[in-house]
Amino acid sequence: MIDYHIHTKFSKDARQTMDGVCKQAIDMGLKEICITDHWDMNPSGKSFDFDLNYDEYSKEYNRCKKLYGDKINMRKGLEIGLQSHLLDEIEKLLRDKDFDFILGSIHYVNKIDLFGKQFYKNKSKKDAFTEYLNEVYRCISRFDNFDSLGHLDVIRRYCRYDDKDLKLNDYSDTINKILKTLIRKNKSLEANIAAGRFGIGNIQPSEEILKQYVKLGGKKLTLGSDAHTSEQFAIERGKYINILSECGFTHITGYKNRQPYFIPIDELE
Ligand SMILES: [Zn+2]
Ligand SMILES: [Zn+2]
Repeated sequence: MIDYHIHTKFSKDARQTMDGVCKQAIDMGLKEICITDHWDMNPSGKSFDFDLNYDEYSKEYNRCKKLYGDKINMRKGLEIGLQSHLLDEIEKLLRDKDFDFILGSIHYVNKIDLFGKQFYKNKSKKDAFTEYLNEVYRCISRFDNFDSLGHLDVIRRYCRYDDKDLKLNDYSDTINKILKTLIRKNKSLEANIAAGRFGIGNIQPSEEILKQYVKLGGKKLTLGSDAHTSEQFAIERGKYINILSECGFTHITGYKNRQPYFIPIDELE
């Protein structure tokens, strides 16, 4: 099994150490892990507490790779927060950095984070979801320096509505545009298996959207737990392989030096 979405203490909101993640992954029999700590720019463009300390991060990654790299395949990744008004600055930030894999995620829309109440205030669910999906589309159509789109329907985690479903039919224009853009640009879609801990089904995006991606010709898929603690990292991954097979995927995508490669899904147990 592999995991391409893992946070360590280099992310402000995570508690596990990189060393601890490596040991736990080896104990759990994982074949490959990619650490993807956060780097989100302040919506105002200034630095803030979701900055990644790149030099320290690289140092610790290299130390862990030396210690554990013969027991598990390790990849140096990043979860970059995309904001459509900051894409040039984000590009600059990544220019001289060295990663195997970059996960592009949308955590802010129109300078407001999706975690708090503010974004949803006085907004119908339809308006909030549409605004969010439009921002996802703007970012991935204008930006190229990422490999996989993280948690496409992340708004379901944090929205304040009783019904948190994101049905393909209700947003099919924008969802189809997003999926087609990923395919055209040769990017991956992420299957994020943190959905269970947020009580929103098995997987993000939902099986319905994953099937639509396959139907449109999408083949590249990365798989990640989005773990911020060792308990979240200990999640059972095997069952997701069946779900993804049923959605029509035959391979999971890995990355080295930003180059994708395919791992047959039946080799992942
Ligand atoms: Zn994220
Ligand atoms: Zn994450």
